[in-house]
Amino acid sequence: MKLKRTLAVMAIACAYAGAAMAGVVRDDEGTVYKPTGKGWGQIDLEKTQELHGASMKARRSTNLTLQGGPVMTAPKNVYYIWYGTWDSPSQALLTNLAQHIGGSPYFNINTTYYNSAGTHVQNSVTYAGSTTNSGTLGKSLSDANIETIVSNAITSGALPSDANGIYFVLTDKSTTATSGFCTQYCGWHTNASIGGKDIKYAFIGDAETQCPSACGATSPSPNNLPGADSMASIISHEMEESTTDPDGNAWYSTSSGNENGDMCAWNFGTTSTASNGAAYNQTFGTTKYLIQQNWEIATTQHCAQHYP
Ligand SMILES: [Zn+2]
Repeated sequence: MKLKRTLAVMAIACAYAGAAMAGVVRDDEGTVYKPTGKGWGQIDLEKTQELHGASMKARRSTNLTLQGGPVMTAPKNVYYIWYGTWDSPSQALLTNLAQHIGGSPYFNINTTYYNSAGTHVQNSVTYAGSTTNSGTLGKSLSDANIETIVSNAITSGALPSDANGIYFVLTDKSTTATSGFCTQYCGWHTNASIGGKDIKYAFIGDAETQCPSACGATSPSPNNLPGADSMASIISHEMEESTTDPDGNAWYSTSSGNENGDMCAWNFGTTSTASNGAAYNQTFGTTKYLIQQNWEIATTQHCAQHYP
């Protein structure tokens, strides 16, 4: 996930890549990147060395290419973990998104992606359940804390253990994530082995009071819920990245580490105006949302609002 402020994120990306691999010139033509899930790439030393080998032909691509890892082609189940204190309208808005994004022309963009066997992603997402966490790990969550929240929800039986699941840790307005919420990202996705299964999960923060300019919680918003309205776009971003690059080794750009959601971050395409004056571009169920576009790869790769 990327911040709204492109210049800020470019500076951060440079700093991160430099720190991660001092001595390698950033973005020279012979450097290969892989995703971090947080919206910036890190240098893929193994592939960079392959590229530098005389026998290797160029493997660095601006477009997304399949790097061989798994893709979530099967029907997917979405689980929400409500962390902290939530209001019912915000919960209803985000639940409605998860209930209706599957089968939509928007999510159908992901069906242009396939795994190494040529099996395409199915346009099927089910909202399969939720649980709450009142805030047992405090208001400043490390990446490890966020994994613990997911792990506890599964091992306690509050949510099922599901390799076709995507678990979203949705934090309230007063909770932050210490690895860079508001300064380096608005959300991210990753995977971990939990209970012997490859569990895909994501973090999405509520930026309404913490960083509306960085993470898009602007007013008016389609449902007069600036925090949740903006989280809807970021949930969609992380959902499509989890689908096409669940373990960080499938579909991404080797020249940047960008995944499909990153390619169209903060790019909404054509919008309409709701009665309250807010821009929107998608309707799920009967509710309006402003959702970033996604990267379609059927023919010429590009951002799209729907497929076909
Ligand atoms: Zn992303």
